[in-house]
Order: sequence, then C-alpha cells, then structure tokens
Amino acid sequence: MKIIMLGAPGAGKGTQAKQIAEKYSVPHISTGDIFRANIKNGTELGKKAKAYMDQGLLVPDELTCDLVVDRISQADAVNGYVLDGFPRTIPQAEALTSALASRGEKIDFAIDVEVPDENIISRMSGRRACLSCGATYHVEFNPPAKEGICDVCGSRLVLRDDDKPETVQKRLDVYHAQTQPLIDYYKDAGVLRTVDGTQDIQKVFQDIAEILG
Ligand SMILES: [Zn+2]
Repeated sequence: MKIIMLGAPGAGKGTQAKQIAEKYSVPHISTGDIFRANIKNGTELGKKAKAYMDQGLLVPDELTCDLVVDRISQADAVNGYVLDGFPRTIPQAEALTSALASRGEKIDFAIDVEVPDENIISRMSGRRACLSCGATYHVEFNPPAKEGICDVCGSRLVLRDDDKPETVQKRLDVYHAQTQPLIDYYKDAGVLRTVDGTQDIQKVFQDIAEILG
C-alpha cells in the first residue's frame, strides 16, 4: 500500500500518517527524517544534500526524489509506505511518478486531509508558549493550570509570532499555491481521496481506514 499524505500545515496529516503506518505495518516516511538519516550516515546522497543545505539553498527536486526512492527501496518498505511531506510540488510528483514507473510501481492513494484555513488559524491562535522553558500549551486543548502562566516555571505565556493569524495565513497561502496543482495531479491519476480533517482525530482515522480497506 503506497500512500501520499496531502494536507495543510496544522491539518493533522502527520498524526494520521503515524496511525496509518501503525495499523498497516508500513513505514511512515518524512523527508526531514530521510535528510537527517542520510547526513548522519554520511551517504553520497546525504553529502550532496548537505552541500545545498549548508549554503542555505533548497535541495533540488531530483536529489530529494533520489533520496525518497532510495528510502522506499529499503526492506521495510517492501509492502508499502506512507509519504509525509513529499511530494510538495508538481516537479517532485512527476519525478516520483516516473521513478516508480521505472520499477513497475505506482502510488495507490493520495489522501488529502482537508481543513478550512479558518479552522487552522483558530487552532494555531490558541497555542501558547513559554519562552523561558519551552513548554507549550493550548488554551482549549491543553490549558495551563493558571491562565497565561507556565505550569513548569511560572513564566508568562505568549502567542508566538509563528502562531499569529497573519503568519499562519501566509504559510497557508504558500501551501495552497503549491498544493492545489498536486491535488489536481493526483485527482487526474484517479488516486485522490479527501477526508474531512475538522472531525476529531479518531473519526478522521476511521474515514481513512475505510478508504484503505
Ligand atoms: Zn516555562
């Protein structure tokens, strides 16, 4: 079962990917983990990727795709995998499709965890952070014992710039610009499935499990 996860930052697709990996005994593969593992192990691909990253450059699509293909060729991925964070762009999707095609394989499902921007913005704006000790809270889902005060160290909690509505909206705009074409790409390929990501985590996962069978 070869699965791609699509969904905005904050939509909860990472959480769903983990649960899919567990239920179907396939690895959860994120590009961040692949980069770290290859750089740590000093592989040829890792060295190439590091050279770009050290210069503050984006790792090119083809190299990223080579790293992903190398990862999905490993023994634990023989029955499939869940890709999280890749592909992000059409050139990456095309590179993946052709790399898989050359092995006689294809993606089975692209699962889009759909959450309206307003919901993501309101979830994020409930986050609170302690800048002294790094503890994080959420006013609704994980509130501190005393409003606005860190349970761990007693410092005042703040809404980080990263979680402010205008910052989140900017991130979402970038996401939509890059991902809408991907959604169309996988729809045309007949493998797109959309789930309602506004439901609670377990219900979202039930819907996904129904799709995957
Ligand atoms: Zn604290």
